[in-house]
Amino acid sequence: MRTQRQVVDYSLQKRAVLRDVHNGKIGTLEVCDASPYLKSAARFHGEPTEERCPICRRDNLTLVHYIYGDELKQSAGQARKLAELPVLAMTLREFQVFVVEVCQSCAWNHLAEQYLLGRDALTADELDRVEAVAASSTAGRHRDIGSSSHGWDARR
Ligand SMILES: [Zn+2]
Repeated sequence: MRTQRQVVDYSLQKRAVLRDVHNGKIGTLEVCDASPYLKSAARFHGEPTEERCPICRRDNLTLVHYIYGDELKQSAGQARKLAELPVLAMTLREFQVFVVEVCQSCAWNHLAEQYLLGRDALTADELDRVEAVAASSTAGRHRDIGSSSHGWDARR
């Protein structure tokens, strides 16, 4: 998404954790501890990837996008499908996205990246364009308040 800003990438931290797992300094149980909420968020809102799980190598990783911000009110902390983010980015001034990678086989999970989205960063031109896109994609979209996806607590 072009409007992503203040992107923080956690791949270095992930590599460090994986190194410690392979060295035996951290047990796999400690890193394969996705909560039932995170696992169901991965199942219902997750974005499939082509990347194999670095721990079990049985399954591909799923990315879960959690959204946070005052403007979201009771939706803060919920998981959203990636396709829903551009619409939110058009309607809200600013919100935080946390992307968590999850293996649905062994429950490995790690924060992949975080960034800000929202119309604050858009130029007038871009606003026109996203509004056109949002208008077409909100037609016929059913609202889904996924309370089951609550509960990821940004531990790492
Ligand atoms: Zn796995």
